[in-house]
Amino acid sequence: MKRLGILTSGGDAPGMNAAIRAAVRMATVHGMEMVGYLDGFAGFVAGEYQPLDDRAVGNQIQRGGTFIGTSRCPEFLDVAVRAGAVRQMRADGVDGLVIVGGDGSFRGALALADEHGVPVAGIPGTIDNDVYGTEETIGFDTAVNTAVLAIDQVRDTSESTGMMFFVEVMGRTSGAIAMHTAVAAGAAGVLVPEAHEDIANVVARLRVSIERGKRSHIVVVAEGEEAGGAFAVGKKVGDALDHPYRVVVLGHIQRGGSPTVRDRVIASQAGALAVEGLAAGRSSFMVAIRGGRPVEVPLADVVRGGHPEARLDLLQLAHHLAG
Ligand code: ADP
Repeated sequence: MKRLGILTSGGDAPGMNAAIRAAVRMATVHGMEMVGYLDGFAGFVAGEYQPLDDRAVGNQIQRGGTFIGTSRCPEFLDVAVRAGAVRQMRADGVDGLVIVGGDGSFRGALALADEHGVPVAGIPGTIDNDVYGTEETIGFDTAVNTAVLAIDQVRDTSESTGMMFFVEVMGRTSGAIAMHTAVAAGAAGVLVPEAHEDIANVVARLRVSIERGKRSHIVVVAEGEEAGGAFAVGKKVGDALDHPYRVVVLGHIQRGGSPTVRDRVIASQAGALAVEGLAAGRSSFMVAIRGGRPVEVPLADVVRGGHPEARLDLLQLAHHLAG
């Protein structure tokens, strides 16, 4: 294997650049070249790439987002489009592919391996921490830290004024960000897509803490929870308690920013092992992080596994510690 391609796909996540850097530098160690396809599978389909050598990935480890771009590429669902892309890849002398993304991107990766025998390695890169088989995904730690920092600031106003705050965090199908944020920020409650919660229970809990004289009340709401997000939950709870409240939607603030140490370290480990695995002749694996260490797991298991089990123990913990 002489030349590898790397692409980032799906939603961007802090630490993707650190993963690209590690992959490129490890390719150099193994005497291989690397190219970066632009804007995910879109660039792969169009044959648009830039050569990446050790210098090209300098000054990237601390940057959020992905400097080679990402996109969603619906055309890639088409078998003929994938075949054309592989022909182009081979014409360009690219022998294997590292794909940084979520489980959708890994379905695309597996299709290339199954249909055309392309050696592929996956790296879990998504702020949602919703990839089966890995304890952590690149970007999650940064996103949670950003959300907690924001809530710490909101809490000052909640404590000063006694107003309740409903803070919406990202997570259309995954409550991982919400639950970790709720525990770390000392929230009074948390609502997630994976668990039903009666609004009446939220109201009852907040009523008790207001009566006990507690002044700051933060409820973390994952965007995909069933009541319809923080505005809907805030209105229902605020009206029921007749208590002043505000809604804060953190939105894309959580997606960007300089990656934390944790994300840089796991991204570096994952980028390096992805290339080492391909260099050793292995394929169709994802680098998972387990116990802080990178391990290869079959991509097929990741895709088949679907949504990882939600950490509802953290939801319970947040409620128990709400005070
Ligand atoms: P994520 O990788 O974060 O889960 P998406 O689900 O949006 O993000 O997938 C990213 C891209 O992966 C899609 O835009 C598409 O190009 C490709 N993809 C997703 N599912 C498949 C599939 N079943 N077959 C081929 N490509 C796919």
